[in-house]
Amino acid sequence: MIAAVRSRIAAAARWLAPSAAAACAGSLAGGVVEHLGRGAGGAGAGGAAAAIGFFALLAIPALLAASAAARGVYALWQPAQLAASLVEDGGGAPRLAGWIAAVGTGALALAWLMFQGTWLLASWTAFKPLTLGYAMPVLAVGAALALVALARPAALLFTAIARAADRRWRRGGRRRTLLRPRAILTGAIALALATAYALWRIVVRPRLGPLDTSALHAPAAALTAAALALALWGRAGRRARVIGGGAAAALAAAALVAALAAARTAPSLTLELWGEQPLAGLVIERLFDLDAIRDDLPREELRPTARPGAAHPDIVIITIDTLRADRTPPYGGPAEMPALRALAERGAVFERAYAPSNVTRRSIPAMMIGIHANRVRGRVVGWALRVDPRHVLLAERLRAGGYDTAGFMCCLSFWGPEARTGLGRGLDHLEIDGDGTRLAQRARAWLDARELLPGRRPLLLWMHLIEPHNWANGVPDSLAEAERRKLYDRSIARADALLPTVLGAFASRPADRAPIAIVTADHGEALGDHGVPYHAADLYNSNLHVPLVLAGPGVRVGRVAEAVSLTDLVPTVLELAGFEPPPPAEIDGRSLADLATGRRAGDPAAGVAFAAMVKDRSNPGGVTALVRGGWKLIEGAAGLELYDLRTDFGERVNVSGRHPEIVRELVPLLRERQALARRPLSR
Ligand SMILES: [Zn+2]
Repeated sequence: MIAAVRSRIAAAARWLAPSAAAACAGSLAGGVVEHLGRGAGGAGAGGAAAAIGFFALLAIPALLAASAAARGVYALWQPAQLAASLVEDGGGAPRLAGWIAAVGTGALALAWLMFQGTWLLASWTAFKPLTLGYAMPVLAVGAALALVALARPAALLFTAIARAADRRWRRGGRRRTLLRPRAILTGAIALALATAYALWRIVVRPRLGPLDTSALHAPAAALTAAALALALWGRAGRRARVIGGGAAAALAAAALVAALAAARTAPSLTLELWGEQPLAGLVIERLFDLDAIRDDLPREELRPTARPGAAHPDIVIITIDTLRADRTPPYGGPAEMPALRALAERGAVFERAYAPSNVTRRSIPAMMIGIHANRVRGRVVGWALRVDPRHVLLAERLRAGGYDTAGFMCCLSFWGPEARTGLGRGLDHLEIDGDGTRLAQRARAWLDARELLPGRRPLLLWMHLIEPHNWANGVPDSLAEAERRKLYDRSIARADALLPTVLGAFASRPADRAPIAIVTADHGEALGDHGVPYHAADLYNSNLHVPLVLAGPGVRVGRVAEAVSLTDLVPTVLELAGFEPPPPAEIDGRSLADLATGRRAGDPAAGVAFAAMVKDRSNPGGVTALVRGGWKLIEGAAGLELYDLRTDFGERVNVSGRHPEIVRELVPLLRERQALARRPLSR
């Protein structure tokens, strides 16, 4: 009994051995290709071994399953028996050739129908998911049924053609048949690969535009190496199998050990691999706790340097999603926003504050790390960005500096535990609610309870409100422009109504113990400007110009005309909180504390802000913009655009031809910031 089981296990192991060897060989090849393909910066032999090991953790099971499945299917087809039944006198199998040709042309027809069908349906329905979701299966089933109906007639036709061609080839009887089963299969595979590649290059690729396929190199290398290993296994003798298979297995095991050791003992290396290698990174974030690895880094290096004698006031930052400055009262806008108006009247209004990008996913990390949007690393998850854990966020710095930190955030897609974006890093207390009113009430309740505690540490509270982002939900596109603006204004008024709920928690404090309150936004909204209804499509001021209002002890009352960027938020807040701003090597922003406190008046002709559109799921990317004082240079697909913001803040007239000297001055500043995107990120 036991002997029988044992022999069965031995048989299964023998059967699996070639797949296991192929999986090891494929993983090693793929791991090496992914590691060599990454950007600059090396981690030595140990780092390379760990990188290959992380890749192998994913690739070995995948390749093992794939090769076992492929071999199983192959065996079930009983190819020898099939060939014998199809082979005719003379060793040829014209019926096999006929059926393979029928299947091949059928597959081609189906692929063409689905490609064209998807293309046309998407453009006719303007990507309506429900219509597409219904129409595509109907198209697919209809096409498949038609192909099944035509399959046998087509196979008979192709068989006749193959038979005739082979007869002609063999005329005279001296030459061997072309239609040997093995030759047919090899030819069919080669033809299929060549056709797929040609279609990709001629039809698909040109329509897709710029596309980064480098992430596919490693899987392709892994599959090729595994297939090669399987083919060799079939031909090799027992000795070669033992030596080759054993070597592949031993190397793969060593790489796996290196990876597991790195995850436990080398957090910097592991985080670097997460950031630089897409597939090894996928394994790291799936199998290990990225935040726990991040927590293994020494905390001291995050601690900001306290300025001697400086006070550490409470800081309240409220970011309002999709808030365009010129609709709000401090910037001459018509919306009902009494709370923001009152805050502006008792604080500093930055008249020319620019968001680092035009979409939350890119702006919020740039604002809270203090670097340009094109330097923020991470992976897109849903609508958000999983921020590279090597970046340090404002809340982490303040917490390391002795602050209590709390976040009241909308929404789960950005701050929820499932999204694991890392944007909540450094926030000791985090509450998430999709409803702004409830969120503000929860923040108020938490603040009220906290106000009663003795011996409190200073506080950073960050609240992100989504209300204006959803202003267009259910609003028909046909609505007149003025009506649409009214609806937008109403949504930003709703966000404003939430401010007193939160800020009111500090109302009973004496003025010198009030918090420093900061209200700003991640980006604006086009509202029809430049032919665009919403945001994320361009870098014009409708998208970039956002409110930046500060008030509190030490903050001046008045307006600042100098252009600033919201990448300046981190150093500004740190300085206002009594710390030295981080050194320029760590961040791109500069502290605006001198402007906010009135130590410096600000120069309307100076001040530089940079913004970047980063290509990802909803963003075509490829546009950058630079403001210096009253000039703005935009570089996109259409080339350079220059605007004189002093007379044309809505960017209607491109004056790059009239002011080549300004273009010449601004282009190097733009290039310098564009180039930063390619700088490797290392801690
Ligand atoms: Zn947003």
